[in-house]
Amino acid sequence: VIDTNPLKRLNEEIFAYATRKQQEIDELKKLENFRKEFLANVSHELKTPIFAAQGFIHTLIDGAIDDKSVRDKFLDKAAKSLDGLDALVKDLLTLSQMETGDIKMHYEKFDIGHLTSDIFEQLEEKAEAKRVQLKFDKKMSVPVWAYADRHRITQVMTNLIDNAIKYGREEGKVLVSFDSDKEHLIVSVKDDGPGIEPEHLKRIFERFYRIEKSRSKEQGGTGLGLAIVKHIIEAHRSKVSVTSKMGKGTTFSFKLEKGDNK
Ligand code: ADP
Repeated sequence: VIDTNPLKRLNEEIFAYATRKQQEIDELKKLENFRKEFLANVSHELKTPIFAAQGFIHTLIDGAIDDKSVRDKFLDKAAKSLDGLDALVKDLLTLSQMETGDIKMHYEKFDIGHLTSDIFEQLEEKAEAKRVQLKFDKKMSVPVWAYADRHRITQVMTNLIDNAIKYGREEGKVLVSFDSDKEHLIVSVKDDGPGIEPEHLKRIFERFYRIEKSRSKEQGGTGLGLAIVKHIIEAHRSKVSVTSKMGKGTTFSFKLEKGDNK
């Protein structure tokens, strides 16, 4: 009797090997598509404000500059487009530095309650324009010491609070709360806006992902804010979580190392 087992085993091994290789190829293809899509997105996003600014400036050169009210309006629009471009390039740079690991975290002890008050002040005008209240949820004992990268956490909090104002409702409320468990500080930013549907919720941390494209665009974002937030929090060896209820609002939260004993 011929022992066919070795042959069978060899066959199985070859099959397993081929399957593994195919998976690797699929993975590489996916990455390549992702890269292409990203590049296309970046080009598109860069082109939009450049074309807009170009359009306004050329119209001015072609004579609109002689009419004072038109001139002021067009200059303002051109400046806004360039501000948007500036924000986009800065966000792209941050993202790419985070992804290549070029950004080192500078841990220090700081009062995140104080930091949040400063952000409230900076965003006050924007909130007032929409009659949105910026508040701390429940009384907390101040200071709220965190041990993290202060500059990066400022970026995170600014992005989350800014989004809560932008995508929340008129006359709404944005609540920031600080809780703690044994080792961590738990930070949450909550709004009482329209909420995010589950199908979108799982994608909002992707680069350039926006819900209702036109409305999000109108708000002047880059579509990179939450991707940056995610990176920064992960660089702190933590995770961002989000919960949302349609018609009720959205809450983003994350944990940070406590700073009390540092
Ligand atoms: P953007 O620059 O467009 O604000 P983000 O990455 O910060 O980009 O957010 C991605 C998208 O997630 C937004 O365009 C918006 O559609 C949605 N989003 C973010 N925060 C909220 C929120 N608090 N409530 C509802 N939708 C939100």
